[in-house]
Amino acid sequence: MVLKVNEIFTSLQGESSFAGLPCLFIRLTGCNLRCGWCDTKYAYDEGRDYSGMELVGLINDSNIKLVEFTGGEPLLQKEELIRIIGDVDQEKTILIETNGSISLEGLPERVLTIADYKLKGSGEGGSFLEKNMGFLRKKDEIKFVLKDFSDYNEMRECYMKYDLGSKCGVLVSKIWNAELSDGEIAEAILKDRLNVRYQIQLHKYIWKDEKGR
Ligand code: SF4
Repeated sequence: MVLKVNEIFTSLQGESSFAGLPCLFIRLTGCNLRCGWCDTKYAYDEGRDYSGMELVGLINDSNIKLVEFTGGEPLLQKEELIRIIGDVDQEKTILIETNGSISLEGLPERVLTIADYKLKGSGEGGSFLEKNMGFLRKKDEIKFVLKDFSDYNEMRECYMKYDLGSKCGVLVSKIWNAELSDGEIAEAILKDRLNVRYQIQLHKYIWKDEKGR
């Protein structure tokens, strides 16, 4: 049992309802998408193999309670990932952040999923696997990253179509150099009465584009 890992680092969780908490990030190698504003291109190919035992030991021995598997796209190594998670201490909270294009079916009950819904502005609009809407539970989160108002409108349509406000947590943020301001997004969310969590990417605010943060 082997996982190809790009990097392992400790940082503050920058997004999601866990934002602000110390988190052990395990970034897996490889991605099946190519978002225009991707800031982890270095994870497309680089990395090294970790045995399950090595990885589980590293997670269980860390004194960080929150663990996130991210990418790249972690679900490209789904079967191995599921097996490794089975050996992680139960007291750890495990997040998987996925780009939404690969089936969430079969993920362990204990995992909290953060599924990105790629909007048109990312260059990968339409990549979200529709049947994944059926796998999102109350404790999971769906995330929209906006580039412009067209993305905002697409997010709102998706929110209405799938009644996302009552399905799971809904996260909204914007890219660093978006064509709309935090204030404009906040006003639009309030006007449209969307039950979403608007978030500023905390890790970018603190560390800008520093690698491994
Ligand atoms: S899904 Fe994530 S890692 Fe893959 S290209 Fe998009 S932003 Fe980059």
